Amino acid sequence: MKRERLQHNFSEWFSGILRSADIMETRYPVKGLFVWLPHGLKLRNSVFAIMRGLLEQSGHQEVLFPQLIPENIFRKEAEHIRGFEGQVYWVTHGGRDKLDVKLALRPTSETSIYPMFALWIRSHADLPIKIYQIVNIFRYETKMTKPMIRLREVTTFKEAHTAHAKSEEAEAQVLEAVNIYKRFFDELGVPYVVTKRPPWDTFAGAKYSIAFDTLAPDGRALQIGTVHNLEQNFARVYGLKYEALGGKQHYVYQTCYGVSERVIAAVMMAHGDDVGLCLPPHIAPIQVVIVPIPFKDREVPVEQIATAIKNELAAAGLRVHLDERDLRPGNKFYYWERRGVPLRLEVGPEDVKKEQVTAVRRDTGEKQAIPRGVLKTKVKQLLEGVTGDLRERAWNLFHASIKEAPDTETIKRVIQKRGGIVRAPWCGGKACGEALKEQTGWDLLGEEFDGRAPAGACPICSKRAKVSVLIARTY
Ligand SMILES: [Zn+2]
Repeated sequence: MKRERLQHNFSEWFSGILRSADIMETRYPVKGLFVWLPHGLKLRNSVFAIMRGLLEQSGHQEVLFPQLIPENIFRKEAEHIRGFEGQVYWVTHGGRDKLDVKLALRPTSETSIYPMFALWIRSHADLPIKIYQIVNIFRYETKMTKPMIRLREVTTFKEAHTAHAKSEEAEAQVLEAVNIYKRFFDELGVPYVVTKRPPWDTFAGAKYSIAFDTLAPDGRALQIGTVHNLEQNFARVYGLKYEALGGKQHYVYQTCYGVSERVIAAVMMAHGDDVGLCLPPHIAPIQVVIVPIPFKDREVPVEQIATAIKNELAAAGLRVHLDERDLRPGNKFYYWERRGVPLRLEVGPEDVKKEQVTAVRRDTGEKQAIPRGVLKTKVKQLLEGVTGDLRERAWNLFHASIKEAPDTETIKRVIQKRGGIVRAPWCGGKACGEALKEQTGWDLLGEEFDGRAPAGACPICSKRAKVSVLIARTY
């Protein structure tokens, strides 16, 4: 697969493919708002079904909170508000009446969920609480918006919120969340780094934040998931207390973690090529497309056989589509390749005669004849092969884009030349962190989580490095 256009003209590739692969309509007349199209929405739903499964398996329960938050409740947590102040849409009127209390369109849901936690939590026995919802949120973005990446309406925000009796339990919950996200991105074959965000750049109201970043083909880092330890910050503001065994009242400890539709963009970027999308089979809305190749001058029942094959594969649980349109096969091939269908089966007169089907992998273009007798088994094997190969290829590309750099000059040179992520030694100090950011002109993703112990000295203060810091241009 070629990724030249994808890498050199990523923006153009991305917006082109949103339309031509039936993912998203970008001409909606409000800035930063976009329309999910049928194929895109199916893809989104199968990706978030994986997330739902992972959360349910680990004891999270799905809820659905209202979208509006009264101003007085929203403004309770001062730091949180400072973080979101400039981004909130306000509802000020109901019909012709001016509202007594303005209502915020949620930019995130801490302030709508936690007042309810305060009502639900009475004793130790009510804890822990582990809930999640998949909802839309609104943020008044002033920067340039981009479908799925920088939005004014994030249509798909999976946010989980937990409450615990003990600080250690919240710490353990953070690790559980990190592991859930690792499994999620691994399932999607989306490569990532995990970092602890710099203390001066954590989520508004959190004790610390952990972030997952992947790389776009243009070499810029894209944050695709965050996990926050809120400690008791919100619990104190919203009065989230429980009665311990001895009768004493304690504030709870909390965590929250989120993933948005950015992950769909990440899937498209990780596996796409110059032709278009290339979807991992388990999330592809259509896994196998059958293209009959009729021959007018021969009496071969190509269509009939193609239909029988379709029914056979559908009965085996595969998402299969038979393309019976009156188009030339070549046009059909290209149409489905752009949409990223992992496997194409061609049924022509030769195939019928030899009782076989010609299979073509979307990722490699590899062609092979499969005898009808073993079709189901062989197709399933091929699809599994595609999943594994896509994941491996994406990780290889990603690893090749992470470079070590011991000093600011090298960091600058590396990122300027090829983008990607640079790993540098760091003393962990704020002044040095800010100097690093300033001198290189790039962003600190944060200190590498579970990272190797760094060799060398902090490039700013020359003290022995305590951690590795990851630096990149970011979205
Ligand atoms: Zn330093």
